Amino acid sequence: MWENVRLVAGGAVRGANSTGSNFQSSDVEKVQSSFTFWGAFAMSAAAASTLSALGLGGSRARSRVSLCARDSPSTRPHPRVSRSKCPPVRAAADVEVPPTDGLGEPGGPTQVPRAFGVQDGEWNELDAKLVEESQSDARLTYERSILPTADELLQSLAPPKFHLMGLTKDELKRFATENGLPTFRGKQIADHLYGPKPVRTVDDLTTLPKAVRETLKEKNVEIGRSEVHHIAAATDGTCKLLLKLADDRVVETVGIPATENGKNRLTACVSSQVGCPMRCTFCATGKGGFARNLAPHEIVDQVVSLEEHFGTRVTNVVFMGMGEPLLNVPNVLRAHDALNREVGIGARHITISTVGVRGSLEKLAAAQLQSTLAVSLHAPDQELRQSIIPSAKAYPLNDLLDDCEQYFVATGRRVTFEYTLLAGVNDSPEQAEQLARLLYTKKLASHVNLIPYNAVDDAEQFKRPTRAAVFEFRDVLESMNVPASIRQTRGLEAAAACGQLRNAFQKDPMDASG
Ligand code: SF4
Repeated sequence: MWENVRLVAGGAVRGANSTGSNFQSSDVEKVQSSFTFWGAFAMSAAAASTLSALGLGGSRARSRVSLCARDSPSTRPHPRVSRSKCPPVRAAADVEVPPTDGLGEPGGPTQVPRAFGVQDGEWNELDAKLVEESQSDARLTYERSILPTADELLQSLAPPKFHLMGLTKDELKRFATENGLPTFRGKQIADHLYGPKPVRTVDDLTTLPKAVRETLKEKNVEIGRSEVHHIAAATDGTCKLLLKLADDRVVETVGIPATENGKNRLTACVSSQVGCPMRCTFCATGKGGFARNLAPHEIVDQVVSLEEHFGTRVTNVVFMGMGEPLLNVPNVLRAHDALNREVGIGARHITISTVGVRGSLEKLAAAQLQSTLAVSLHAPDQELRQSIIPSAKAYPLNDLLDDCEQYFVATGRRVTFEYTLLAGVNDSPEQAEQLARLLYTKKLASHVNLIPYNAVDDAEQFKRPTRAAVFEFRDVLESMNVPASIRQTRGLEAAAACGQLRNAFQKDPMDASG
């Protein structure tokens, strides 16, 4: 039984209160947590509760949790541009197509440079250690995203760098007052960060007096934007940006435009880590090893950069890029909060995807997000799953599904499942039947997203399934009353699977400086 989460008997769904939050008063008291930002800040209940569960944010001045998670983009219009007035998505022909750098032709497999020490094979103690290290790194990264208190600043000779991107308007207002500025300056900064022309440097904060900008620079305050290092575009409009971070590491972010029922959509597939320690056998990112977690500003910037590139607003965000989001929970939640409140992405338009990290679903449930949790299964039994996802050895399928069930009971949010179809490995009708039975046994017969595999180098054992096999798999699931959809493959030419563009553009898997 999860201890950090208030469970709802019989799986009943709690009604949302007037603020749109699923919290009840007793929950609020339970999850009150502290977040300081050069003083005391109020953060969303969602982020606050999970961070509280993680034992973070408790060392500084306490503040009450604010309850105003938003469900719909329409409830949070952009400060300057209404969504209905968004310019149309640019046609693929307008988008720059990068050179292939001789490392891989569009549509073909890409090079997979390997980090030292990363090996195929069974999950081992070294892997478990790397996972632990990445979780510790997530805590440190989170701590660095919080402004130091005035006392801490006085004690340090050189203030550490601090990034404004990823802060909510309330936090920025507090930032302003802590710096002796009127509160409205915080709103002005928010408009500069999340408006139609997102700024890149403190000098670009032109509504602030020059003297204020100079003071901010002296205090080592930065905007926190990443540089667009390369762009790859597909004929269907999908566009992948390779972003260079401040330490020269690189991550990918993908923009996927689509039109549904006459409405334009732009989905951002964002990364949560530089690399990934989970080593899924079919994944280009997993082949390259893990470097570090992304900070909130680096996650939010991916969405802002895509909006800039496409010239339109992002409508949906999926945490399905490089990295395992549930190894970086505190920073993913902070970014989620800013994306929801300031960038205007409705919570129900945000999906967090995971292959499963033991203990993390409980923490996520404590956040009571209105977002979708997508769990990658990729196999209907433990033995096969473990051969595809080595980390499944440490978190067996049975335990993972039990936790999914608990997650539903605790949050009232149905878990959806991802299933990458690998020809001749996990795509038979019998396996579809086995999967349906498994989900029914666990009372989890919710939506299954089928993803035909995209080829990557160093994973020659896997092939893309035939169209007929994909449709048959879906039909079997649906005949057993498990709703299923086939994810349309987008941007194969842009090296669509996570990690492929990064691998195509660099010899060193983690660094773009060479
Ligand atoms: S599929 Fe996701 S969790 Fe697995 S190695 Fe790739 S990035 Fe990591």
